Amino acid sequence: FLKGKRALVTGSTSGIGLAVARALRAEGAEIVLSGFGEAEAIAALCDELSARHVAGDLSQRAGVEALMAGAGPVDVLVNNAGMQHVAPIEHFPVEKWDMILALNLTAAFHTSRLAVPHMKEAGWGRIINVASAHSLTASPFKSAYVAAKHGLAGLTKTLALELATDGVTANCISPGYVWTPLVENQIPDTMKARGLTREQVIEDVLLVRQPTKQFVQPSDIGAMTLFLCSEAAANVTGANMSMDGGWTAE
Ligand code: NAD
Repeated sequence: FLKGKRALVTGSTSGIGLAVARALRAEGAEIVLSGFGEAEAIAALCDELSARHVAGDLSQRAGVEALMAGAGPVDVLVNNAGMQHVAPIEHFPVEKWDMILALNLTAAFHTSRLAVPHMKEAGWGRIINVASAHSLTASPFKSAYVAAKHGLAGLTKTLALELATDGVTANCISPGYVWTPLVENQIPDTMKARGLTREQVIEDVLLVRQPTKQFVQPSDIGAMTLFLCSEAAANVTGANMSMDGGWTAE
């Protein structure tokens, strides 16, 4: 149902963004990939998805502008690129704060302001921001991430109101812990560091705040993205769609 629509997914060379790009492609969207990675791996993804990859460091305004110029007009914009850093506030590296705010929040402002004119003109558009349970609740030692994700949720609501009569919706998807290579690769070290079994690491460390005791799958976020792109979701705007196994219900 997305034939003839162009979708840009930031941070789509791995993890959640890649799963979202695959879901959008399966519905016929033309995909623009963004993100870092080995040239060969990126070329393979471009082949798989009949996609173009446009380079750009999204923590820099010039990088976002280069991405948007290279992508051309987009109908579906998924702001997904993000990073994390964990440290107590008094030791939080200032450059990490700046980087996380730039990538997780400011990049979405720049992509949105550059994507919206075409969406308005077309009378249809979808802006989907991959936020986090941390857009609704906090955890210690994640000051920059929590601030950026709360900011992203606020930006989303503002865009929803500004674009409400233009056929353009803006929503957040807010996952809890998602099963990505990044998470999987932390398990052996945590087992060693804390003397725990694999099952204990998963249940008592990683999923301690996720009541279902299950990871969200990247493909689940792809499925939610498709719903938000569908006509059934034309009146879903300004929403923050939690996919966190009940985390933020507590
Ligand atoms: P990931 O590390 O697998 O992917 C991040 C992507 O962003 C990669 O494609 C990477 O190349 C790209 N990227 C990183 N820095 C960039 C930069 N400066 N410029 C351009 N691209 C850059 O991460 P993921 O786990 O798939 O996370 C994707 C999004 O989902 C993030 O916004 C993250 O905060 C959010 N999220 C993840 C989880 C989880 O459990 N994995 C939970 C909640 C929210």
